[in-house]
Amino acid sequence: MRSAILEGMKRTLAFAAASTLLWVAIMLALAFDHRARKERFLADELELYASRVETTVANLSIFSRYVLEASVDLPEVTSLVARALRSDEAGRAVVRAELRSVMAGVYERLVRFDFRQLHFHFPDSTSFLRMHSPLNFGDSLKGVRTTVDDANATLRPVVGFEEGRIFNGYRFVYPLFHEGSHVGSVEVSFSMASFLNVLGRLSECFNLFVIRREAVESTVFAELLSNYAASAISDDYLFDAAVPPPEALPDFGKGFKARIAGGLATRGDFALPWTIAGVEHVILFKAVENTRGEQVAYLVSVREEAGYERLRQDFFLLTVAATLGWFALAVVGWLFLRDRARMRELSRTDGLTRLANRASFIERASLEFDRSGRSALPFCVAMFDIDDFKAVNDSFGHNAGDRVLKAVAGLLGGGIRATDLVARWGGEEFIALFPGTRLAGAARAAEKLRAAVEAGDVCERRAVTLSVGVAERAEGEGFEALVARADAALYEAKGAGKNRVVAAPNADGP
Ligand code: GH3
Ligand code: MG
Ligand code: MG
Repeated sequence: MRSAILEGMKRTLAFAAASTLLWVAIMLALAFDHRARKERFLADELELYASRVETTVANLSIFSRYVLEASVDLPEVTSLVARALRSDEAGRAVVRAELRSVMAGVYERLVRFDFRQLHFHFPDSTSFLRMHSPLNFGDSLKGVRTTVDDANATLRPVVGFEEGRIFNGYRFVYPLFHEGSHVGSVEVSFSMASFLNVLGRLSECFNLFVIRREAVESTVFAELLSNYAASAISDDYLFDAAVPPPEALPDFGKGFKARIAGGLATRGDFALPWTIAGVEHVILFKAVENTRGEQVAYLVSVREEAGYERLRQDFFLLTVAATLGWFALAVVGWLFLRDRARMRELSRTDGLTRLANRASFIERASLEFDRSGRSALPFCVAMFDIDDFKAVNDSFGHNAGDRVLKAVAGLLGGGIRATDLVARWGGEEFIALFPGTRLAGAARAAEKLRAAVEAGDVCERRAVTLSVGVAERAEGEGFEALVARADAALYEAKGAGKNRVVAAPNADGP
């Protein structure tokens, strides 16, 4: 009985451990899935942003090309550049003034459309006229402005992001020809503000542009460094002072610089969720490379985005749902196990006396019998039979007989050691096994039980006694033969006057 309770506890523990493991596994799977989803979400956002940047460059490229063909690449303009190319410094000054006044109207309209650079250069990449900064000229752009060098060298249009002496941005540089010969190049580029404006309309987000401090300090004219301002993003990155309007800058709050430092250090694209003034945002950092393939800037998209937060809510709901599902399953499993254990227990016990029944006794006794046989330990069996039980039934009724059976069973069950086992053999007969006990010891134990029943308050109207036969396993004897010898000893006890214990003589010796 006690071992059955222990077994039940073990089974419950095993079930609890297994279901806890299952729950942990489910939670881990959900957590991994949630992480993968978050990463995929940010990666998708980044990819979309990259394609919008590309679209913006492509659109501005078409616009720039249109301006070139409609207003710049005209004979009256290229002839002036050709003349300047042939002139000395003094002559160039005259032509520069002439070109500036020819282009003044065009440039004024371009500025209204957010163009920033209209810059003429000679074939050797010397600056001839910057409409956006007419007093800065004559400097060599060789090695400084790769796009200009490339356009003059390849005689093909060049597009790409590039740092400049004044501003940084996406550059559109075209070679210029006059009467079939190469006379220099011209840059027709937008301000970064207009770039961000177009990009912003495409992506419905707030866009920032930041450029590496090093890139600015190594190329921009020293007196024009004021075109750049410290950024709220990083000490290593500056804002183009013209973009964005400072009042539009979101307050990223404390900890933002530290949070993105790792991402900036990779100099590649990265994305993160960030709460600005209590509102969930997704912030994307798209690395901008110059024409030499060096990362020099970042386009930053700041967008209110509940999608990421929704992922978190989904994860929470999924966790709750999975836990509830798991819990329901665990309860059903536990009930099933408990029922099964109860059924098993019922099938092993005698309904009236609650002692082990004959089948379960034989099962356990055979195990014990084999075990003590292997380790050459003694093994005894005792058979009990209530004396004149029929008379109890006949005098006081079947119910009184049942009560006597229960009382005797209680005394027998309570009177043995934990390693011993007592069972109802059938009718008013009981059986006990004493593993590891010699015949004399078993007979003593049986005598104690007999005396307990005789002395016990088993039936108020009649003395109830037991006859007992005890036998010890003989060398090479089987279980059934041993039980038969105990039975024979029991009949001997009956024959000798009942209410006594008879030990069957040892088969292998005196
Ligand atoms: P003896 O001393 O020789 O053992 O005599 P006895 O009357 O005890 O033996 P007998 O085998 O003649 O009678 C056993 C009786 O036990 C017969 C049967 O009706 C009764 N009996 C068997 N099982 C139960 C039971 O579950 N409940 C009740 N009340 N009686 C039972
Ligand atoms: Mg009997
Ligand atoms: Mg009897």
